[in-house]
Amino acid sequence: MGRTVLVTGGNRGIGLAIAQAFAAQGDQVAVTHRGPVDDLPGELFPVQCDVTDAAAVDAAFTAVEEELGPVEVLVSNAGITDDGLLMRMSEDSFTKVVDANLTAAYRVAKRATRAMLKARAGRMIFVSSVVGLTGSAGQVNYAASKSGLVGLARSVARELGSRGITANVVAPGFVDTDMTRALPDARRTEILGQVPLGRYASVEEVASVVTWLGSDGAGYVTGAVIPVDGGLGMGH
Ligand code: NDP
Repeated sequence: MGRTVLVTGGNRGIGLAIAQAFAAQGDQVAVTHRGPVDDLPGELFPVQCDVTDAAAVDAAFTAVEEELGPVEVLVSNAGITDDGLLMRMSEDSFTKVVDANLTAAYRVAKRATRAMLKARAGRMIFVSSVVGLTGSAGQVNYAASKSGLVGLARSVARELGSRGITANVVAPGFVDTDMTRALPDARRTEILGQVPLGRYASVEEVASVVTWLGSDGAGYVTGAVIPVDGGLGMGH
């Protein structure tokens, strides 16, 4: 395909799988990272970027534009959790998670819009979560940030649809990554009991839906929220 793709948080987990899936189909893929990335596959172009820093986001896009050309497909994937019950959740924890998961998506989408408007084409894909739709005890900050991505994407879809730009959301359930491996065993077992497919998703199963949203075949799909959750969020 040979398009330029940027995946935030593409150095590990779901983001890395998304980046590799785009690269495997012939796209030129840049990935943001914060720390050192010695073991990143050679076909990926690494750009240092903390998505909570607007200047770093701007610099990362500029670096990608210089190396690979304007970003045609943006995948806003970087995200964090900082779980805790509402009564004990500090304001710092709430704003930190919203900043990394939601405000960062606004930052990258806004920066990507410049070149996409010029091209009168573009794809934006936001990685949300099933808990953005269902809510989750102990995740008020995370669920609020992931729910916010739906309103953000749907507004972008309405605002920029006439310019050939689509904006969609992928809502994974539980995926086998560092994020879920950090959960206590009892919680992991409890979660599996609620998933109709009875297992975690692989990162590749999320990546294949994201690459589809970036494909020609999804050209008439915008403002959609696509669950990749083994049936966990059915009905929401
Ligand atoms: P990981 O914890 O494995 O990876 C998170 C990625 O986000 C890392 O690349 C990390 O970079 C990056 N990141 C976090 N904060 C920042 C920041 N401030 N600036 C730049 N990069 C940042 O998570 P997953 O791969 O599991 O999750 C990826 C996305 O999928 C997240 O948005 C998550 O909420 C979502 N998701 C995950 C699910 C799961 O079950 N795993 C389920 C539903 C949604 P670094 O290596 O530098 O820390």
